[in-house]
Amino acid sequence: MNKTKLIEQLQHRHSYEVEFHQAVLEVHEHLANVYDRFPEYEKLRIFERLIEPERTISFRVEWMDDNGDIQINRGYRVQMNSALGPYKGGLRFSPTVNLSILKFLAFEQIFKNALTGIPLGAGKGGANFDPKGKSDREIMTFCQNFSLELQRHVGHFTDVPAGDIGVGTREIGYMFGAYKKIQNQFTGWITGKGTDFGGSLIRSEATGYGLVYFAEEMLKSRKESLKNKKCIITGAGNVAQFAAQKLIELDAKVVVMSDSSGNIYAENGLTKEQLKKLMHFKNDLRKSLADYTKDEESLTFFPIDREAEKWEYKVDCIFPCATQNEVNEDAINKMKKAGVMLLAEGANMPLTDEAQAAILSSEILYAPGKASNAGGVAVSGIEMSQNRIGQYWTAEEVDRRLKNIMKEIHNNCLSVAKEYGFKDNYTAGANIGGFLKVASAMKQQGVI
Ligand code: NDP
Repeated sequence: MNKTKLIEQLQHRHSYEVEFHQAVLEVHEHLANVYDRFPEYEKLRIFERLIEPERTISFRVEWMDDNGDIQINRGYRVQMNSALGPYKGGLRFSPTVNLSILKFLAFEQIFKNALTGIPLGAGKGGANFDPKGKSDREIMTFCQNFSLELQRHVGHFTDVPAGDIGVGTREIGYMFGAYKKIQNQFTGWITGKGTDFGGSLIRSEATGYGLVYFAEEMLKSRKESLKNKKCIITGAGNVAQFAAQKLIELDAKVVVMSDSSGNIYAENGLTKEQLKKLMHFKNDLRKSLADYTKDEESLTFFPIDREAEKWEYKVDCIFPCATQNEVNEDAINKMKKAGVMLLAEGANMPLTDEAQAAILSSEILYAPGKASNAGGVAVSGIEMSQNRIGQYWTAEEVDRRLKNIMKEIHNNCLSVAKEYGFKDNYTAGANIGGFLKVASAMKQQGVI
C-alpha cells in the first residue's frame, strides 16, 4: 500500500488516533525494500493486518475513594498481534491514556518483542486513572476493580501484561492478588511481580540497564565508551532511575534528571548517594524532584517552565525516559549545536515526527525505543520462563542474559539496516528486523 492510501485508511478507520498514525507511518517508511524482496508479504497484506488490532477491549472501572465517593474510569486492553506468542506489553495508568496512545504502544510492541528473539506477541493496556495523590487504599481498590474485568481477557498462555507509566511493583502486586483470588490460580499471568511471589530478579532494573547496555554497544561501534560521558536523562521513574544507576556504575556523569515538576542539574554528575536519596523520594515518599532538591542543596533545580534550557547544555549522551513526543525538532537542533554524540530512547516514541527526521539527518547516533528499551520486555519473557519451570535464576544470570539480548538486538539492527540499504540506521533495522519475523510467522499461520 502506498503512503497516500495508507494515510487515507488511517484517517478513515482510526480517525483522531494521531499517536497511532505517527507510529504506523514511521514503520511503513522502511518497508518498500522488503516488499521488493518478499512480494508475497504485500499480497498477504501483512502490514494492513498488523495495523488492525486482533482485539480491542474497553471497559468501565468503578471504585470508591476515601471520601466514600464513587469514581468512574475507563480501562483498556489492546491485543495487537499474537503471531509470535501470547500478547505481551505493559499497563499504563495515567489521565492521558486513550485508545490512540495504547494502540501506538501496542503497535511498537510488535516489533520490539520480535527483536528480543523471545516468543512474545504484542499488546498494551491501562486506564485513564491518575495514581498521583491517591492513598495506598485507593490505589489498591482501583487495581482490584480494574483486575475484576481484565482477568477475563488475560492469562499465562493468552495475554501477559506488565507495568508501564504509573504501574510499578505495588500496583502489579495488587492486581496479582486480585487475579489469584478470582481465578483461584497462582500463575504468572503478569510480569514485574515482587520477587517473593514469582517476580524475576533484575526485572525492575531491566529497561534502564538494557538501555545503557544498548548505548554501550552503539558507542563501541564508534570505538568510544561511556566513561566520563556527560548524560541527560529525562524522567525520574523506573526507566530513568535504573538507567542513571547503570550509567554511574560505568563512570558516566548524569548531569540532568527530570520529572513533571522540573529538572535537576548536577554539574559534576549525580553521586550514587544522591541517586539513592532521589529514589527514596520518588518511590517511597512519592514526592517530586522539586521536593527532593529542597533537601539536597548541592543540586540546582529548574522548574518545568525552564525545562527546555537543558537541551543547550554541552553533553555527550541523551536518554529520554519520560513519555511520548517529549523531544521536539528545536531540541534536536540545540543538541546538534551542543555537540551531542548519542541519543538512545528509554521511553516509547519520545521524539516527535519532525524531531526524528532532524536526528536521522544529523551525525548524532540514534536508537529508537523499540530497540533500545526492549530490555524490560526481554526480562519479562525471562520471568515468564522462570514461572513456567518453577525455578529462579540469580541476578547475575538474568543480567548476563539481558546484556546478551541487548547486544544481539543492537547487532541485528545494524546488520538488517545494512542489508536493506539503510546503513547505520537503527530505526530502519529495528522496523525491518521486527517486521520480517512477524511476517514470516503470519505467513506460516495462514489467513485466519
Ligand atoms: P514511570 O511512571 O515510572 O516514570 C515516568 C517518569 O516520567 C516520571 O518521572 C514522570 O514524572 C515523568 N513524566 C511522565 N510524563 C511527563 C511529562 N509529560 N512531562 C514531564 N515528565 C513526565 O514510568 P516508566 O519509567 O515505567 O516509563 C517511562 C517511559 O518508558 C514510558 O514511555 C514507557 O512506555 C517506557 N517504557 C517503560 C518500560 C518499563 O519497563 N517500565 C519498558 C519499556 C518502555 P512524575 O514522577 O512527576 O510523574
